Amino acid sequence: MNINFKKSFFLIFISFLFLGCNEKNEPIKTPPLNQSTIIEKENVDLNKTKVKDLNQVEEKTKEALSYPPKTIQRSSSIATKSTIKNFDFNIIKKGFKDDNNTLLIVGGIQGDEPGGFMAASLIVTHYKITKGSVWVVPNLNFYSIIKRSRGPYGDMNRKFANLSKDDPEYETIQRIKNYINHDNVKLIVNLHDGSGYYRPKYIDKEHSPYKWGQCSIIDQEILKDHKYSNLFEISNSVVSHVNKSLIKKEHIYHLHNTRTSEGDKEMEKTLTYYAINKGKAAFGNEASKNLPTHQRTYYHLLALEKYMDTMGIEYERQFNLNDQVIKNILDNDIEISFYDNKIKLPLSKIRNIINYFPVKNDGSIDFVPSNPLMTIVKKNNEYSIYYGNRRLSRLKADYIDYEVENKDIDIKVDSVKRKVSFGSVITVKENFNIMPIDNYRVNVIGYTNKTKKETNITIHHSDMMKKFSIDKDGLIYRIEFYSKEKFAGMILVKFAG
Ligand SMILES: [Zn+2]
Repeated sequence: MNINFKKSFFLIFISFLFLGCNEKNEPIKTPPLNQSTIIEKENVDLNKTKVKDLNQVEEKTKEALSYPPKTIQRSSSIATKSTIKNFDFNIIKKGFKDDNNTLLIVGGIQGDEPGGFMAASLIVTHYKITKGSVWVVPNLNFYSIIKRSRGPYGDMNRKFANLSKDDPEYETIQRIKNYINHDNVKLIVNLHDGSGYYRPKYIDKEHSPYKWGQCSIIDQEILKDHKYSNLFEISNSVVSHVNKSLIKKEHIYHLHNTRTSEGDKEMEKTLTYYAINKGKAAFGNEASKNLPTHQRTYYHLLALEKYMDTMGIEYERQFNLNDQVIKNILDNDIEISFYDNKIKLPLSKIRNIINYFPVKNDGSIDFVPSNPLMTIVKKNNEYSIYYGNRRLSRLKADYIDYEVENKDIDIKVDSVKRKVSFGSVITVKENFNIMPIDNYRVNVIGYTNKTKKETNITIHHSDMMKKFSIDKDGLIYRIEFYSKEKFAGMILVKFAG
């Protein structure tokens, strides 16, 4: 599903700000999901990219950021208070460098609001900014995201007024404040999933002024002396835009002005109010926790596209914007590669537990995720792959030394000989046959025969023991290569279902 969509935009000017939702802790229940497929990797870390976007004639004097794709490199870590720095947020700068009309999108300030952080991550992985500049923080409170907790150390969206230097999140708050204060940042959108449905007048318990779902939030109507000074008008235009594409009438958006400066002590501590007071246009966007994650994500993306339009930022979206397509991307469009691509795992439909996964003897896994919300948390001998709130799989470690060298392997795939590198996934219709390699021992996981030899043998899907597949459908199997006692690399075979 890679339909290219091109959008153009409008210009409107105004300014403002926003706040976070007011809700208290609620346990999150995101069902574990599966995923797989190939995603376009993109991003992270800005300063290093200097790639010119050849498509952008009128922008050719500017440097494109984060396109073509960049990758995020991470290492597994235990997740405790003392290792919180290992879960620092990422900022992914997209579009063009040194553009002083930058949109800053913030997702994941509270770890139990996946609609917001999934939407931010899709801007990172599935949008190309063709004009202007967008900075995305998809995982501001990454630690709380993987802990599936609103805020293990208190509500991060109440830490923007005063904060003790002893607070475990102090550094994170300082970092995001620096981005908010950056001269190039002109408009900020903080994404939330709130409970129920906000309505200006009380209708019933789930539809009332006390609920936070499905609204666009401002702290005040006007922000003086700013390119985007009319916060009210901008927010209203976002509301109208979203309301043109509702999945269900109940999901209707409203503008919600929290009138923070008129005495809302709680809201004074939020990210958006901090931003407003620094002279930045800032808004909150809320989806509803009553909706499934992919529908929340849908509404956030609708709103974000309107903010981009408003700022004259142009983009190409690599999919059709509807909630079912989004569900498919969130569930399937993810993978992870390990140790400089000696191993790659598609994560769609991956089993909950993968046994005897080769982990370096020093106990750490270096990996490149296809999505910024993905990481690996170590606990004893188990390495859990997280994707936002979802724990996709637990890898049970088989500790082993790693061979440095990589060799290509000759494999006959459906009788055609191919050279295959480690970290590949090869698709097999009927059978495969691995050619012998000097000094390498081959182990096809889930295949045995009396000879103990696994090269020069034609292997069919029916020869495999299904319980050894890495996926729940029983289609994908591991071929592992060893040089003496060292692990050399892995190739996956995927039988066409
Ligand atoms: Zn929130």
